[in-house]
Amino acid sequence: HVIPMPSDIRYADLIVKRSDHLQAKPSLDPLGLKFGALYTDHMLQVSWKEGSGWTAPSIDPVAPMTLHPCAQVLHYGSCCFEGMKAYKDKDQHLRLFRPDMNMDRLSRSAACLTLPEFDKVELLECIKELVRVERDWVPAKEGFSLYIRPTIIGTHPFLGLSPTREAMLFVVLSPVGPYFPGGLNPIKLFVETEVVRAYPGGVGDKKVGGNYAPTMLPQLRSTQRGCSQALYVLQDGHPGGGIVGESGAMNIFFLFQQEGTMELVTPPLNGLILPGVTRDTILTIARDFGNMKVSERQLRFGEIEDAAKTGRLLEVFGTGTACAVQPVTGLLKNDNTEITIPFDSEAAAHWLAKLPGMALAQPGTDEPFSLCG
Ligand code: PMP
Repeated sequence: HVIPMPSDIRYADLIVKRSDHLQAKPSLDPLGLKFGALYTDHMLQVSWKEGSGWTAPSIDPVAPMTLHPCAQVLHYGSCCFEGMKAYKDKDQHLRLFRPDMNMDRLSRSAACLTLPEFDKVELLECIKELVRVERDWVPAKEGFSLYIRPTIIGTHPFLGLSPTREAMLFVVLSPVGPYFPGGLNPIKLFVETEVVRAYPGGVGDKKVGGNYAPTMLPQLRSTQRGCSQALYVLQDGHPGGGIVGESGAMNIFFLFQQEGTMELVTPPLNGLILPGVTRDTILTIARDFGNMKVSERQLRFGEIEDAAKTGRLLEVFGTGTACAVQPVTGLLKNDNTEITIPFDSEAAAHWLAKLPGMALAQPGTDEPFSLCG
């Protein structure tokens, strides 16, 4: 008696069922395309069962899914996801930005929830096929892109706490416009010192749904106080202030004037922040610039306050797939005092010019955009 090997996701098994009700494509109005509000016609889906493994992946018309009310994800938040983008280059070729990094991160996120492993190369090939099916949805305009949202959920209908036995992986797509419809708009961040987003030994460095649900309230409080996002600063009683982490959906960078040089600092990958793809890209770009020291090191809030007081805080910006680079000009504290940071639109444009969307406008900048069709 031979026990069959559980099957993995295979691009060769992909089935494509095209919708015959295609929606009209949106007009590429930078102000009209709200991030994440509109979805394309097709989705990729594939399901998994303990023992038998993954089914054949399929691309189907987007439709509501049926879940048992006891599905694990609905109770215990067994869910992880990714955020990546597809672009059309000047020759109308489809390109993805460093998608292997998203596949690696998805795999790590799944593993920490006992959601199933998958073949990262084969899944990426299936995602590329989905993007090709939806080619007409990939905006051919600078600053616009197609946001890709791969998600894995535990669907096992069981209220006991147990490792995942059934799961589903799906990918939906959403056309998005430039994050800065009216040019580079600096934002303020609310310095969140009460709600803790991540802690040692937790899952703050994974992209799991459970990391995000508790950030909705700080997000709401931030917007009520005129800030766009919360900046999480972990209090540990240290006299130098709390440990700076990241904001709700961005990694954070600080450019300091140090004796005789500049230092670009971002918190290290110590388990407390998400290892952002854009973060990694910005670090590479900054090291290439060669005119500043680039540090991934622990940063306490007191250091930022000192630098601001003495005029040595030159720039602050967030990085993420959605915004690319987001200049920050204010850090509002709970006591309503604010640290203001100078805003130099040329400096911000300098970073942005190197990043996806913008970089595509220039010939000879294909790396690290992988060709997709
Ligand atoms: N931190 C958090 C908490 C995020 O949700 C995101 C968005 N994925 C980022 C940072 C930025 O990561 P990336 O550059 O890979 O989009």
